[in-house]
Amino acid sequence: MAELTPSMVAVADGVHAYLQQDGGWYLNNAVLITGPDAAITVDTAATEARTRAYRAAISRVTDVPVRTLVATHHHGDHTHGNHLFPEATVVSHTYCRERVLRDDYHAVLALFTGPSWGDIRPAAPGLTFRDTLTLWSGDRRVELRHPGRAAHTRGDVYAWLPDDRVLISGDLVFNGGTPLLAEGSPGGLARTLEELGELDPEVVVPGHGGPSGPELLLETLEYLTWLRQLARAAHADGLAPLDAARQADLGRWAALREPERLVANIHSGYAEITGTPVDMTRLAADMIELNGGLIHCHA
Ligand SMILES: [Zn+2]
Repeated sequence: MAELTPSMVAVADGVHAYLQQDGGWYLNNAVLITGPDAAITVDTAATEARTRAYRAAISRVTDVPVRTLVATHHHGDHTHGNHLFPEATVVSHTYCRERVLRDDYHAVLALFTGPSWGDIRPAAPGLTFRDTLTLWSGDRRVELRHPGRAAHTRGDVYAWLPDDRVLISGDLVFNGGTPLLAEGSPGGLARTLEELGELDPEVVVPGHGGPSGPELLLETLEYLTWLRQLARAAHADGLAPLDAARQADLGRWAALREPERLVANIHSGYAEITGTPVDMTRLAADMIELNGGLIHCHA
């Protein structure tokens, strides 16, 4: 983890975003919400060393204990470090708990080279919900909501802080990185982003990349419109997802990091058109192929 030093950035009074640049694969953000007697963290980090560094950063901000850990979804960057917060109750959507218990994350790690993961043992959430749950941090409301449909995954949770107008989106939104819909739904995410826009947030803390204003929701929505048009046209032409990705005119999206995710998103777009579930083995193989080999992860 050397050159990309994480930073703790205040986004509201008592709310800090822990930003792990450059926001690439497994370089997620966590958010610390500090109350008078206890703190809440939204997500942890991908590796043991990164989670320990996050804990050290927390201790420089507050000495109250972290009693609640919200998992925005089951992916390892957000959950691998959960066991290093043994004093916290892990809260998630029901589906997130099911996926953590499936304990199949080593198959995903095999797609990547680079990081030293250390001791990672995703801890199963001990408190789950299906729709909404309100946490209280002193007198600050922290509203946890499931979009009600598949979006980035089938078990996404975002946190809305209505008094601060801060939206903690998890991976419903990436800043600077290609959105990832391998286990999600382009249409479901589009509808969800429209609803997030209606909240009228002042600050959006994405799952990866720097905080932004609400324009990041609109930009992601525009990506999804482009992606779904691309998938419809390519499917009508009978193209395999990998060929569709290779032939795509990326236009304004050429600047996004993790370009290999495009083929995963096209698989997901095809699934939306045909109603046939994505073949995850093929999706993973196509992503490696488009990348030209195993994906380097610098977490
Ligand atoms: Zn993530």
